[in-house]
Amino acid sequence: MEAEANPKSTKSVAKISFEQLDQSFRDRMPSVTKEGKRNWIHAWQPHGKWYKMRSVLSVFYVLLFFSLPFIRIKGNPALQINVVEGKFSILGMIFWPQDFIIFGVGMVTFVVFIYLFTMIYGRVFCGWACPQTIFMEMIFRRIEWWIEGNPNEQKKLKAQPWNAEKAVKKIGKHVAFFALSFVIANTFLSYIIGTDALFQIISEPVSQHFGGFVALLFFTLAFYAVYAFAREIVCTVWCPYGRLQGVILDKNTVVVAYDYNRGEPRVKGKRTEGSAAGDCIDCKQCVAVCPTGIDIRNGTQLECVNCTACIDACNSVMDKVGLDRGLIRFASETQIAEKKPFRFTGRMKGYSAALLLLVSGLVVLLATRNDVDVTILRARGQLFQEVGADSLSNLYHMNMVNKTHQQITVELRVEEVPGRINLVGGHQLVTPAEGQAETTFFVVLPKTAIKRRDSDVKLGIYQNGKRIRTVKTSFLGYVE
Ligand code: SF4
Ligand code: SF4
Repeated sequence: MEAEANPKSTKSVAKISFEQLDQSFRDRMPSVTKEGKRNWIHAWQPHGKWYKMRSVLSVFYVLLFFSLPFIRIKGNPALQINVVEGKFSILGMIFWPQDFIIFGVGMVTFVVFIYLFTMIYGRVFCGWACPQTIFMEMIFRRIEWWIEGNPNEQKKLKAQPWNAEKAVKKIGKHVAFFALSFVIANTFLSYIIGTDALFQIISEPVSQHFGGFVALLFFTLAFYAVYAFAREIVCTVWCPYGRLQGVILDKNTVVVAYDYNRGEPRVKGKRTEGSAAGDCIDCKQCVAVCPTGIDIRNGTQLECVNCTACIDACNSVMDKVGLDRGLIRFASETQIAEKKPFRFTGRMKGYSAALLLLVSGLVVLLATRNDVDVTILRARGQLFQEVGADSLSNLYHMNMVNKTHQQITVELRVEEVPGRINLVGGHQLVTPAEGQAETTFFVVLPKTAIKRRDSDVKLGIYQNGKRIRTVKTSFLGYVE
């Protein structure tokens, strides 16, 4: 190892290569013991600015999660993903199977967004926005700390024989976990079937909604199993996004990283002037707070969810020993290897601009999307009919899909040229909520308005006097 000055701490440190670090951590996952059994991760509660920020954000997320299905925009749920009927409501806009193009573009945008975002900023979504982490770390873990105490007390409780204290705490925790899982399952189900259907399942006899009751029970048990038993394994093993990190991240990706150049060689105890020891005092506080049980000093690992708990823990240790903060920080491997401060590079700017463009494109696509789909076709095998002495008519079929939760009544008008519509069977077309309707109608044009044998004619679809769509079709006739 080659000793060199650390400009931040004025201590003499040893520069090492990543390959020189102990690699034995790769032998098994932190959640597995040497014997192949489950190694229960008892994480300590972090304290610091990052944890405070995550706590504030999580309050916002949790409020959003529980309130979104109840929020109505234009009478539609703010968010509903009804996979059973293939119907989605996003920000009050209803998407049907007919919207598969928007859905396809949205999915591609989403995948590219995730890919580029992860390439630049790493797995920050997992620690800061993923519902699994938010619920696990900000609610269930806090309940566990509150009932069973800190990790030392939890281990002690686990090891002690069953007595009244252990029974009360263990049963209390699992009852709280199950009750919360039940509440989450109800909300989750309302994202699929809607709040009205959920209230019916809750308020009416089980026999009338047996399927819904089974779904509710299934989701409750699934959430309970995840938060009470699976926990960090969801992030480290099950989550496909987590598994993708290995192919998305590169040396320029900003991740939660340990500055091994500054920290190594790690040595316990106080530093003396001119010591070759690095800034890491090997206190293992960063490991103690890690919810996935990893040691970030081993480098970037798939198990890291970028929760920043280790940053807070290490910063408070650095404060206590009088060294600069940031031994663990958001940084890329390149920044740490080359000892450069964080810089928003041209590559990041380029990718961020691409992300912005993609998202803007999708927003435009959504904003210009119609709640009503109209198809108008001229009746097959029909030419034209004489109407009186001065007009001709063509026969058309119309199909209208109403994507909203309200019944829509429309009327048709001929646009730009004089003419009228003769709707077969009435003046207005009524389309039921979330349904479709068909009708047949004549377009009648005065002969003076017909300039060619086959001309375009524009038809306006009006709702409450306001034009909601314009459809162009052809009109057959003759020129005198
Ligand atoms: S290594 Fe740090 S950022 Fe990664 S999961 Fe553990 S505590 Fe969170
Ligand atoms: S908290 Fe900081 S000083 Fe302590 S072991 Fe981790 S990296 Fe080293």
